[in-house]
Amino acid sequence: MTTPPDFGTDEPWTWPEARWRPIVEKVRAGRSLKPAAWPDGARCAVALSFDSDHETLTLRAGEASPGRLSQGEYGARAGVPRILRLLDRHAVPATFFVPAVTAMLYPDEQRAVVGGGHEIGIHSWIHERNAELPPKDERDLQMRAADKLEEIVGSRPVGIRTPSWDFSAHTLAITREMGLSYDSSLMADDDPYELLEDGEPTGVVELPVEWIRDDYPYWAMDRFGGLRPTRRRRACSRSSGESSTAPTPRAGCSCSRCTRTSSATGPASRFWMNSSVTSVRTPGCGSRRTPTSHATVGPRTRRERRFLAPFASGPWEGTLDATRFPNRCA
Ligand SMILES: [Zn+2]
Repeated sequence: MTTPPDFGTDEPWTWPEARWRPIVEKVRAGRSLKPAAWPDGARCAVALSFDSDHETLTLRAGEASPGRLSQGEYGARAGVPRILRLLDRHAVPATFFVPAVTAMLYPDEQRAVVGGGHEIGIHSWIHERNAELPPKDERDLQMRAADKLEEIVGSRPVGIRTPSWDFSAHTLAITREMGLSYDSSLMADDDPYELLEDGEPTGVVELPVEWIRDDYPYWAMDRFGGLRPTRRRRACSRSSGESSTAPTPRAGCSCSRCTRTSSATGPASRFWMNSSVTSVRTPGCGSRRTPTSHATVGPRTRRERRFLAPFASGPWEGTLDATRFPNRCA
């Protein structure tokens, strides 16, 4: 067993180049794969792709709310059929990235997608946060997901989009081991490019994505999560000695350290909260690093007041649990 080099403190600004450069070089963009000209003189090419997450976003958080699950059910019941009709009307082929659990819940949907001339790609087992997993578990789930899709639709996927575009330091190696042709999870260019791993060309094509071209941030947020005291909370499972700057929040945990960088519901509600906080009390100390126990909130604009109306019964001003706020202390 080798002894890791001693880099002193773990603060990134103290890292020597030998520490940060391999991190950056692990997965990089290689040569551009943009053709010299698009077919038929087209000015550009557009790829339409859809992630059929359905109920998996609720399940992967360890939640069982029928309300939340119904949001996912809508995707199967109304969303995908509508999209398939639209694509068919315009004769546009597309790719659907499908978690294995979605495919098991809706096998006929996947067969309809393939039957309509579209592609199905790997999209995790249950939309797990793969970058939080031990490498062997990430590998096992990615491979089992491909097996399950093949079993259901009769053809083996050749591409992957990681769940939530969450890409670990091991994802590319697993993708290469599986012999996949492409990934669609990274964001280093507008145009396709070849992926490099540790500086070496891999032959794996990257079809880059970007949150601002995705409708998910606009529709799937839980903007009033912080105002619902009945919402179930979980204790954080972090050990007390763990770094507060650890970048991997615990799945399903709603403590301040985990929700600070949590899933899509976190930043969205947090963003709104930030716009609504009118004062913050930090009992006992004025330090920024003092735990914030309560904050006074209220809508500051007519738009915010309108959004809040169905969820408020009393005065606008109230106190909120600090665990729903950007963390100031941990
Ligand atoms: Zn997804």
